[in-house]
Amino acid sequence: MNVQHSIHIPSFLKVYDNALDDLGSILQNQGISRVVLYFGNDLIEMFGSKVMNSLKDAQVDVLEYKEIDTIALNDITQMAFSISPKAQAVIGIGGGKVIDAAKYMGFLKKLPFISIPTSTSSDGFASSSASLKIEERRVSVPARLAYGIVVDTQIIKTAPVKFIYSGIGDMISKITSIYDWQYEEKCGFTKVDDFAMMIAKKAVNSFVRTPYQDIHENLFLKELVDSLAMSGIANEIAGSSAPVSGSEHLISHALNKLLDHPQLHGVQVGIATYIMSKVQDHRYVRVETVLNDTGFFDYVATLDMKKQDFLDAIDLAPTLKNRHTYLHEQKYRDMAKDFVRNDARLQTILH
Ligand SMILES: [Zn+2]
Repeated sequence: MNVQHSIHIPSFLKVYDNALDDLGSILQNQGISRVVLYFGNDLIEMFGSKVMNSLKDAQVDVLEYKEIDTIALNDITQMAFSISPKAQAVIGIGGGKVIDAAKYMGFLKKLPFISIPTSTSSDGFASSSASLKIEERRVSVPARLAYGIVVDTQIIKTAPVKFIYSGIGDMISKITSIYDWQYEEKCGFTKVDDFAMMIAKKAVNSFVRTPYQDIHENLFLKELVDSLAMSGIANEIAGSSAPVSGSEHLISHALNKLLDHPQLHGVQVGIATYIMSKVQDHRYVRVETVLNDTGFFDYVATLDMKKQDFLDAIDLAPTLKNRHTYLHEQKYRDMAKDFVRNDARLQTILH
């Protein structure tokens, strides 16, 4: 008999304007009074005094704080073991790198990790794995979901808009990743976890049905953050990234390998989702509508991304993961490449 699932989920998720001002009281409510703080590059200047004042007001002691700009496993391991034994939590404030680094330090030290993303560029702030560098290679290592997540929507909306587009691309990708997972099961290569799939589906459906006029609106950003956090839970339930990362993510991973200067994760993933939804013949109208109406396509058109890179990435993609997505079959790779060569929209936004 299989044992019933048991998973860890974050104890708090605060998403609102100026949430960072309340960090101290949020921690105090959790009984946390001694922390170490890690900021992304240049972020102490931007948010340092806001954070320190909030913690001071709530009598939360900062045992150590610094900026970090590394995701090398060796550096992170060393830093983790120099954390004071008095620390009750590890806090990461910033973009992808510092979130991954602090998440992994918390995991190594068995300390709660508080995730404070300053942009919505991917679902990494709410995922249970960390993307680190081991001998110059980017590797996804198991860690643990954040103990708590604080997202200041005021900060998110003033960050460069490319980060919002990247989040949109990463979120919409659940449409194709779920379908790949189901296909993989149909072909006899895996077993889908019903509950993880349901959560991932609800996350993306809730996001794509959110009414908005402008992507900077609070409701839109909150939906985006909540949905990204929900897909992190799907990932945790499944015990793998399968529900949230399919053929479209493999194309992005391949681009990262092929290019000296890849684009943001969710930007690459979003274009790949558009391609794969057509190949899968699955919900592509919805994908196209979201990417068009949000301005995602217009943004991508400014980036000088190359058709040839996508063609090469499609061929490389299936070699990167031992799975069975649509791209693991020749005929679907051929369809994807035909689409890149001939789709009218892609001709206008890729070069
Ligand atoms: Zn992703």
